[in-house]
Amino acid sequence: MIKIAILVREETTHKCTGRGCLKSFNGKTESFARYQGTETELVGFFHSGGDLDYKLKTMKEAGVNVIHVSTCMRAKYDDYEGLVQRIGKDFDVIGYTHGSAEGKTRPTISVTGKTVLETTLHKNDKL
Ligand code: SF4
Repeated sequence: MIKIAILVREETTHKCTGRGCLKSFNGKTESFARYQGTETELVGFFHSGGDLDYKLKTMKEAGVNVIHVSTCMRAKYDDYEGLVQRIGKDFDVIGYTHGSAEGKTRPTISVTGKTVLETTLHKNDKL
């Protein structure tokens, strides 16, 4: 079981309902295609505003393994790279959710290695 959270851009949530992110998560497509054949649970869906450190702390306490930083964060969040590196100290991070694997204006930045997918587990590996 991989526990996942999705972090989206605060300003974008004024209009966006998260449909594209959730469609990709539910269908295990685009950035979530890596979980095909693996059981997943969406534990959190939250925006970048307010007390982000507190939100991340609650996600850690909830056992989240991977945070997907949304495609709109990749496109428009000022310190996208710094945020991914910061979150990557505690979680694996995938730097987009839906759409192209590489951004139009910025490359996708991810931090991986803490969580081993069940599909690639060896008998002595642990999640
Ligand atoms: S990545 Fe797309 S669907 Fe997800 S919050 Fe941003 S604009 Fe909405």
